[in-house]
Amino acid sequence: MRITAIDTFHLRTPLVGAQFWSSQAYFHARKALLIRIQTDAGLTGWGEGGQYGPAEPVASAVHHVLAPVLLGADPRSPEVLWDKMYSLTRDFGRKGPILEAISGVDVALWDILGKSCNAPAYTLMGGAFRRRVRTYATGLYYRGEGPITLEQDLPKLREEAASYAAAGFPAVKMKVGLLRPEEDLVRIAATREVLGTGRLLMVDANHAYAAHVACRLARAMEEHDIYWFEEPVEPEDLAGYQQVKASTRIAIAGGECEYSRFGFLKWFTSRALDIVQPDLACVGGLSEARRIAALASAFHIQCMPHVWGSGVGLAAGLQFLSTLAPSPSTAAPVAPFNEPLLEWDANPNPLRTDLLTHPVLPEQGYVPVPDGPGLGIEVNLDVLGRYLVNQTTTAA
Ligand code: CA
Repeated sequence: MRITAIDTFHLRTPLVGAQFWSSQAYFHARKALLIRIQTDAGLTGWGEGGQYGPAEPVASAVHHVLAPVLLGADPRSPEVLWDKMYSLTRDFGRKGPILEAISGVDVALWDILGKSCNAPAYTLMGGAFRRRVRTYATGLYYRGEGPITLEQDLPKLREEAASYAAAGFPAVKMKVGLLRPEEDLVRIAATREVLGTGRLLMVDANHAYAAHVACRLARAMEEHDIYWFEEPVEPEDLAGYQQVKASTRIAIAGGECEYSRFGFLKWFTSRALDIVQPDLACVGGLSEARRIAALASAFHIQCMPHVWGSGVGLAAGLQFLSTLAPSPSTAAPVAPFNEPLLEWDANPNPLRTDLLTHPVLPEQGYVPVPDGPGLGIEVNLDVLGRYLVNQTTTAA
């Protein structure tokens, strides 16, 4: 079997009336870069590359840098091709759009491998520990067009938190870092009050704080029973992570802005994290996420991937999550203490809910792992066409 063509699809759809803010950015649209690999056997594979930046540099890397390695190659060797792509780009890549392009290609190759064996990707990776994954709602962003005030935000926050409890999510993650820390503390207290004591609450700063501010907030949050504090400080600040981690009994999570096993190694050797969150669309796809998870397990650090983006990225995340061993091992693992949780991005995203022929959705706090061949999904090309900004194809 040979690769005959590689397509990139830049998708975008505006969020009318549902815009939101994190501490870093205003989200007024959803976008994704999907990668399709075609073969002479008629099989095609889908992947998603990149999360945070524009789609164009990732697409450019696919066509101008990686395509010459891929066209004509046998697609049923994702790890071999991963090594070729990484070696080719080592001197100028290693992070950012180049690795995001490798990520999407790698996932598409696993999709083809699975389809060629008529087996789900998780079977080819060694089998599934679970066929459905406990999930938490990521939401409770700052709503509206801005500027955001506490008074305007609180009622919407309470209403949204109540909706996650009603939907049966066992855990909820909220944003902080856009307002003053004492104002965000009011939002945290309000969310905990709405959720009650039976649900986990996590807090995500998207690296908004200096270490000393994060330490102060972490100590103040402890009375609201926060399970983890995510990205408290900037992703370059390893010592800052260690400072925050030493200051609080709340678990520290991070890693969504890190790339490759080489990037993650220092986070493990320094034990700066309790929970590592590699993103498959960035770190190097399924091949590299598996290596990062293996490293994490050697350091007894829990792995719960960052999952964002379209239905294709979600399917890849679920395949990966199904293969993670309970950590630590017990006779009856309980999420999230020794079972991984799926991050469910609960804000409106048609690229996630409409793009697949059979949408993958949460039900009473669980999301099923697609069990068809490869990623187990089918992309609806009509829907794809509706959101398409640009399609580029490189053929042999
Ligand atoms: Ca995050």
